[in-house]
Amino acid sequence: MSKHVTHWIGGRAHEGAAGRRGDIHDPASGRVSGTVDLAGAGEVDAAVAAAREAFPGWRDTPLSRRVQILFRFRELLARDQDRLAELISAEHGKVFSDARGEVARGLEVVDFACGIPHLLKGGYSENVSTGVDSYSILQPLGVVAGITPFNFPAMVPMWMFPIAIACGNTFVLKPSEKDPSAAVLLAGLWAEAGLPAGVFNVVHGDKEAVDAVLEHPGVAAVSFVGSTPIARYVYRTAAGHGKRVQALGGAKNHMVVLPDADLDLAADSAVSAGFGSAGERCMAISAVAVVDSVADGLVERIRDRVSRLRVGPGDDDRSDMGPLVTREHRDKVASYLESGVREGATLAIDGRVHPVPDGDPGGFWLGPSLLDRVGPEMACYRDEIFGPVLSVLRVRDYDEAVELVNANPYGNGTAIFTNDGGAARRFQNEVQVGMVGINVPIPVPVAYYSFGGWKQSLFGDSHAHGTEGVHFYTRTKAVTARWTDPGRRPSGGVDLGFPTNG
Ligand code: NAD
Repeated sequence: MSKHVTHWIGGRAHEGAAGRRGDIHDPASGRVSGTVDLAGAGEVDAAVAAAREAFPGWRDTPLSRRVQILFRFRELLARDQDRLAELISAEHGKVFSDARGEVARGLEVVDFACGIPHLLKGGYSENVSTGVDSYSILQPLGVVAGITPFNFPAMVPMWMFPIAIACGNTFVLKPSEKDPSAAVLLAGLWAEAGLPAGVFNVVHGDKEAVDAVLEHPGVAAVSFVGSTPIARYVYRTAAGHGKRVQALGGAKNHMVVLPDADLDLAADSAVSAGFGSAGERCMAISAVAVVDSVADGLVERIRDRVSRLRVGPGDDDRSDMGPLVTREHRDKVASYLESGVREGATLAIDGRVHPVPDGDPGGFWLGPSLLDRVGPEMACYRDEIFGPVLSVLRVRDYDEAVELVNANPYGNGTAIFTNDGGAARRFQNEVQVGMVGINVPIPVPVAYYSFGGWKQSLFGDSHAHGTEGVHFYTRTKAVTARWTDPGRRPSGGVDLGFPTNG
């Protein structure tokens, strides 16, 4: 049965008035499974108006009450995590266990946000001058917006809104129009948890909705996660409209393998991190920089593991890897296999011929692939492919590997595989990347650390969640106060000099 997904504004479903709709696909069959309303400026305005109206009451809601609602939301999320994971798998294509993992990582951020009273404590200094105290207060910004990508339709929004709302802001989420249902389920859970209407709103849409958010004078801050060209555009446009912005972009994550590494661990990790979620993760490994002397051994081990991977529908629990998100994306990813060979790489594993035993022929399938002997000038290395294609670059030594990683314009995640603690320590110090793994291929920080890349993987100052998330969603007010002591004269008289302390 075909579904229709609409906006969530002011605590309830809100039919789109713009009249534009997009299709939602089942990537495993290629069929249209539903439609989604695409907002115009009118719906965005309605969502911002609802959030503005809710802001004064929510800002003044006692921390203890906010936390009770957050705890209830957390329990409801735990109750419905399978339902949420099924929805994600059906619209994104990733296998159910992977979708469940994404929900679990989002839930960790809610856990973190439940500790908000501790995180919102300001500082207090007594007697900074005679009879004068100074203290700081962290206050919410107002209406804040989140614009999120297709590849984590629950986790990435949950990097943002639990903390934003816990800090006392109200929120407008513009999720990806490719898999919009998770956001609406989350909105329903907030309502069930007792969050006042208007504190959390969802508007679906494409560029038109995004532009309306970026330009809206009622929006104080924008958190964006998506591809680098759009992240750059969002950063510039929203900042140009006077907003606080954090815009997380794309990635090209390298795995460096030194000769002393445990090659079985490295091969397991390359396969898991390269092909999990069909490579549609911003922390996926896409380039393996391996020292030449162990390269053949590593490629052989990867080939062996890939031959045993089962590609199939996300709702089949025998599947290790599902389809890609759209037909266009699958075709674009596959085109890098051709361009790679044309430019001189060796196609060591061709995912186009990987069996999909239970796959509908209309599904957006592409099996795991490996291009060997890739050079840094090739398109398959320069571009973010965002699919199940690993590129192997053979390097002379540690220095050449680090030079390669540091010369790359992206700087989201990286990992080194070695048994040499000194080399690993040098790597963590020298590498120009925001998140580093040591014998850990996908070093996604836990919720109480912050998530963010360097270089063209992030525009702005603040990383997502953790204490940087609290910092992003609050602003500091410093108060200097004097109260009259009954035994002391309140003033030394008129003094036109600049205030000094004493
Ligand atoms: P995308 O940039 O196409 O879309 C992201 C959001 O921007 C969506 O909500 C979309 O509707 C909107 N958008 C798309 N085109 C737009 C335009 N021209 N103008 C204004 N808004 C527009 O990204 P995607 O394909 O949904 O997601 C995959 C990308 O996200 C990859 O590049 C991946 O690396 C990146 N990503 C990064 C992180 C990170 O933490 N750095 C996390 C997840 C995904």
